[in-house]
Amino acid sequence: MFTDLHLHTNFSDGTYTPEELAGHAHRLGFAAVALTDHDTMEGCARMAAASAAHGIEFIPGSELTCEHEGQELHMLGYFLDAANEKLRVALAKFQGVRVSRIREMVARINALGVKLDVQLVFDIANCRAPGRPHIGRALVKIGVCSGLDEAFDRFLKKGKPAWMPKYRMTAAEAIELIHQAGGLAVLAHPGLYRADHVIPGLVAAGMDGLECIYTRHSTPIIEHYLLIAEEHRLLVTGGSDCHGMNKGQPLIGTTKLPYHFIEKLKARVAARRAG
Ligand code: AMP
Ligand code: ZN
Ligand code: FE
Ligand code: FE
Repeated sequence: MFTDLHLHTNFSDGTYTPEELAGHAHRLGFAAVALTDHDTMEGCARMAAASAAHGIEFIPGSELTCEHEGQELHMLGYFLDAANEKLRVALAKFQGVRVSRIREMVARINALGVKLDVQLVFDIANCRAPGRPHIGRALVKIGVCSGLDEAFDRFLKKGKPAWMPKYRMTAAEAIELIHQAGGLAVLAHPGLYRADHVIPGLVAAGMDGLECIYTRHSTPIIEHYLLIAEEHRLLVTGGSDCHGMNKGQPLIGTTKLPYHFIEKLKARVAARRAG
């Protein structure tokens, strides 16, 4: 029995619908999946229904953009109550920040002489959490870039002309938001930040786990983070971070976390909810 606890749909920057994603999970034999779209839980209701139709257990989640000492971090929330009022308000706010940022980034691209209609970006995104990949897809669609990589390299990467920082909550705020919505806070893909020094501060803020098993973590990196998790008594999670066909091959199926890791997460959720 296996699970994948890091997946995106077209409710953020993935390309699969929830139904397509659940279909792939079924084909690959997953017993459980979590949906972790960026700064939104919009896709969770459909993903729950589509998973149930295949007999797959579903864990509602989200990947919250935040920062700690200037470092952008992604905090995964699991077992979140999508109806939680504070969480709904916070997600709406960060979705608003994403929308204004898209407008500003497209204005910068226009200022470079590229005729890109911001409405095309919003049409492609077709969700409340638009991001840079949607601008990239629009640039490819109008023939300005040959692919997403070129769009990031020429316009969208940090330091490139259209790049803009976006207002982010702190990691401590993200952890608190996740906890008050009944969830567990897990640091996504620690191997991508080169910022292990932030981990003790996050543990002090109450973070529950570390995503040690991850498609882009090599075996030595996985072992490195398993040791750190043990040292700080953190839960261990894992996932593929599949975005559908966005980045060439779909990643779902490349990371198969044994199901028993979920039992530990559930025990921690139950303990926290019991006070
Ligand atoms: P945003 O949330 O708007 O800052 O966009 C971040 C998203 O862009 C992440 O989900 C990344 O997967 C994606 N991304 C970052 N760099 C690249 C790149 N070079 N090529 C394609 N996608 C990227
Ligand atoms: Zn993404
Ligand atoms: Fe991420
Ligand atoms: Fe992700």
